[in-house]
This record gives sequence, structure tokens and C-alpha cells, in this order.
Amino acid sequence: KERMITGITPSDSMSLGNYLGVVKNLIEYQNEYDLFVFVANLHAITIPKDPTQLKLKTKEMTALYIACGLDPEKMTLFLQSDVVEHSQLGWILTTQSTMGELSRMTQFKDKSAKESNGENISIPTGLFTYPCLMAADILLYDPKFVPVGVDQKQHLELARDIASRMNNKYGEMHVVPEPILTKGNIKIMDLQDPTKKMSKSSENPKAVIKMLDSPAEIANKIKAAVTDSENLIKYDPVNKPGVSNLMNIYSIIKDVSIEECNKRWEGKNYKDLKDDVTEALLELIIPIHEKYNEIIKGDYLKEVLEKGASKAKKVANKKVNKVQNKLGINWYR
Ligand code: ATP
Ligand code: MG
Repeated sequence: KERMITGITPSDSMSLGNYLGVVKNLIEYQNEYDLFVFVANLHAITIPKDPTQLKLKTKEMTALYIACGLDPEKMTLFLQSDVVEHSQLGWILTTQSTMGELSRMTQFKDKSAKESNGENISIPTGLFTYPCLMAADILLYDPKFVPVGVDQKQHLELARDIASRMNNKYGEMHVVPEPILTKGNIKIMDLQDPTKKMSKSSENPKAVIKMLDSPAEIANKIKAAVTDSENLIKYDPVNKPGVSNLMNIYSIIKDVSIEECNKRWEGKNYKDLKDDVTEALLELIIPIHEKYNEIIKGDYLKEVLEKGASKAKKVANKKVNKVQNKLGINWYR
């Protein structure tokens, strides 16, 4: 089986965008690939985090992966910080990147603007070098494929550039990974501003559906979702981004085509659309909540993570040694 790796930052609770964009596909991939999935807690601290919250969110993300259908018997699930090789290779890759290429990352531009109130001097350095650690997360495991949403494509491109550059300069050491974009390039949009993507760390709680939201919260958020004043249900992401986003959410959850959706709501009003979307969401989320409540108790998660880390470490440690050798770092090994 070809290897595949992916991760999510526990910066906040898993969003519907994360789920529909990446997590849902992993359920199938775990049967087809040698799948490695990690909770990226080292990435979470690139933006200041309250330690108690971080612990909570990290545990929650681990449990949610499993509740959403990942099976630790079939795949490798671990915590990024448990495999120290991520930090080791992360540093090495930082030395192989340039200020120029890191400055071009659009996520850095967006997040640093948000964090610094326009003052360059207070932008966290980790936010800037983040893509190097992300490149390490990937290159450590020599995966053939990396499933990412469209928003992460630029970071993966950078990982590929660094990999090829090092292969050329020091001799073959990295597999240059291919991105697997979600089927149909799924991008779930913000419910309050449907021209931007839904982000789990969005500061407006109404803008994002969290996988652990209660049925009542979900119903309220969908009710409050921004549409337009036409009262015409038609898939048109450019002119009707709010309505199209709701249709898209329904179409992906229910696995029905956009044409079918156009037909389904012909002549109906926005309330009908929103009721249907809410129903589809509840159908999706309730069984996930049940599973979540089951596994969050006791030592189960800890055992899963310990087993996962020791499996991941075997691969990662070999790789770090190889890289250090090629670069002349551990001369005596
Ligand atoms: P943050 O606000 O902390 O950046 P995020 O929601 O963007 O949170 P990430 O941890 O950056 O989530 O990304 C996890 C995965 O989810 C990535 O592969 C990313 O491409 C995907 N993803 C994130 N948001 C969406 C979205 N709105 N639609 C589809 N996929 C998404
Ligand atoms: Mg993001």
C-alpha cells in the first residue's frame, strides 16, 4: 500500500469544513492506503493558546477523528509532539527555506495581519516558519500522497520545492509528495461571510459549524446563515455564495448531485432549504456524538496515541538519520 499522511491543528474544535473537506475522505483512504494521521499540537502554538484549552482541544480532536470513523486498528493515529523527529526535521527544513518563499504564503499574510494589528514587530516567528514544520510533518514519512483542502495547496507546494531542492543539492533523500485534493475541490464557506472559507478558529461562532455543536446550535446557525434577498434557490457560487454554500453542504452530506439539488428546491423558499440542510446535518452529527461520548472516557485514547506514536517514530527516526547523514550532521553514524 502507498503511504499517505495528513494532520489537523487543534487550534479549536473540528469544523464542518475540516470534516467534509478532509476527514470524511480519510475513512475511505484508511482501507486503500497506509494512512498516518496526526493531531498537530505543535502547530497550534504558532498562535498564543491557553494551555488548559490546548489540552482540551487536543484530546477532543483525537477523539473526534475516531468518532468520525478513523479506525486505529487500520491506520496510525498519533500526536505530533510525541514524535520528536517532527521538531528535529522541522529545524533542518527551516534552514533549507528562504524568507522570500515563506513571505509569499497567503495563510501567513492572513493570519499575521489578524494577530498583529498591522504591527510587523509583534508577528509570532512560528507563524512565519510554520510551513517548514508542516513540510517536515510530511517529508518524515516519505508519503506518496497528501490529502489537503485547497487552502493548504500552497504549503504542500513549498514542501515539494524544499524536497526537490534538497534532493538535488545533497542527493536523493525525499519522496516528492503529490497532493490529493478532495473530490470536487470541496471548500465549505463561512456562514456569515460566504465569500471566505469556513475556519475552525474563526472569531465569529455563528460563522462556523463545529462537529460537536449541539443539534439546537446547528439549527440556529443554519437559520442565521447569510443568504441573499432574491428568494431563488439556484446553485451559483459567484452571485449567490450563501445559498450555494448551503446547497453544497447538503449535496456532499447526502451524496446527491448539484443538478438534483437545483431540482429539489425549484420554486421552494430559503426556509425549506435551511430546514433540509439542518436535517442532513443532524443525521450526520448525532451518531458521531454518540461514538465520541463513548471513547472520551477512560484510557482508550491514551493507549491509541501511545501505540500510534511508537509506530510513527520507527519510520520518522530512520528518516531523520538519513537526512542528517546526507547533510553531514551526524558524521559518526
Ligand atoms: P485554522 O483556522 O486553525 O487554520 P482550519 O479550519 O483552516 O483552521 P486547518 O487545521 O488549517 O483547519 O486544516 C485542516 C484541514 O482541513 C486542511 O487539510 C484544510 O485544507 C481543510 N480545510 C480547512 N477548512 C476547510 C474548508 N472550509 N473546506 C474544506 N476543507 C477545509
Ligand atoms: Mg487553516
